Amino acid sequence: MNQENDQELNGVNNDNRNERDHLEGFNPSAAHRFDYTLQDNENRENYKNEAKLVDYGTNWFPICGVSAVCFPEQQLPMKFDEDEQELYDRLVASARANGFVVLFPSDIRECDTLPYVATLSKVVQANPQTFSMELMGVHRCKVLSYNLENGEAFVQLLPEVEIPALLPKHLPKYSRRYSMYERRSLATRITGYPFDSLRDISRNQAEQCCLELKGMIGEEILQQALNRGLTYFSYFISQQIFSNRETEYSLLKEDSANTRIAAALKYCKVSIGKCRRCFAPIFLNENIMRLPEQTMTHVIAHGFVHKITLLSSITNYVRASAPSYEFTWFPDYAWIIIQCVGCHQHLGWEYMSMTREPQRFFGIQREGVQFENDIAEERDDDNSDPTESSDSLSDEESD
Ligand SMILES: [Zn+2]
Repeated sequence: MNQENDQELNGVNNDNRNERDHLEGFNPSAAHRFDYTLQDNENRENYKNEAKLVDYGTNWFPICGVSAVCFPEQQLPMKFDEDEQELYDRLVASARANGFVVLFPSDIRECDTLPYVATLSKVVQANPQTFSMELMGVHRCKVLSYNLENGEAFVQLLPEVEIPALLPKHLPKYSRRYSMYERRSLATRITGYPFDSLRDISRNQAEQCCLELKGMIGEEILQQALNRGLTYFSYFISQQIFSNRETEYSLLKEDSANTRIAAALKYCKVSIGKCRRCFAPIFLNENIMRLPEQTMTHVIAHGFVHKITLLSSITNYVRASAPSYEFTWFPDYAWIIIQCVGCHQHLGWEYMSMTREPQRFFGIQREGVQFENDIAEERDDDNSDPTESSDSLSDEESD
């Protein structure tokens, strides 16, 4: 995954070089590289907090709210505005001091009250000239309290759980010589927990996720993710689902890789995307596409992260800006802001190129659309507080 990402970065930026030449104070030859935050003689492995990570202890770390859910092993590029220098400096200083930053999704209501689940992340690379940095999710943690003045949070690390990995804890020593099948059925008899079937169920569900997403992500990449184990796969698949940030946060909170995969599976199946506000149909799942060098998460000002879905064609939209090449996410493509034809909600961007194939595609912001599986879930959820939906609507309108 890392390797692939490096290739993506290089590919994108080589092509971007000419375009960026005009930027003042910008060294185009270095544009494709981030400067490492750490000095050559600093070794992240030696930080004293590393020991506590293993012990699932608690500690204070700098905290940063972002408009995204960051999963462990997820790379999160961030771009800051000039008025955010203080935050930028604080995060870089943290990388030097102890290596970690607590990232939490700032627009999830649950994160307003303690405790909530966040992601301990490390600054992988940073470039002070461009105010950009790249963070990588490392571990889930629970935020127990925070100190606003210092911008720090007191967190406890959460363990990664895979059901089959729990097995030995429930078995007497003599069963070591048993076959795996016998061990699982013995554990089921002792605990009443379905050890004997859960592993196969998770494997089966993971393979179904692969089946749903292979057209978009590619079979090989999915298989590689699966080969890295259920925990890694559960986070990988959580980054790829078609839903909103609340759902992503609920996946982050799942106690085990097994239940996370099961929960993510239904969001891998998408049939139709509709405008979140007026429900005008915008696209069908067969329009979802993937560019070779696509990264799914993009960042613009204020540390905002926009997760977009790429589509070959959409309906019910209007253009709301002139084409522009400025700060384009896709080299050689100009972007045009697009809105819903019915309610003029911002949907995302249309991308057009004179030189590249495809000549035209669309990037839809996931927050602006509602997928049919979200709607089905809301229908199921009859007990929900009726004020909740009207509240979230007014939040959107105030944007
Ligand atoms: Zn609309």
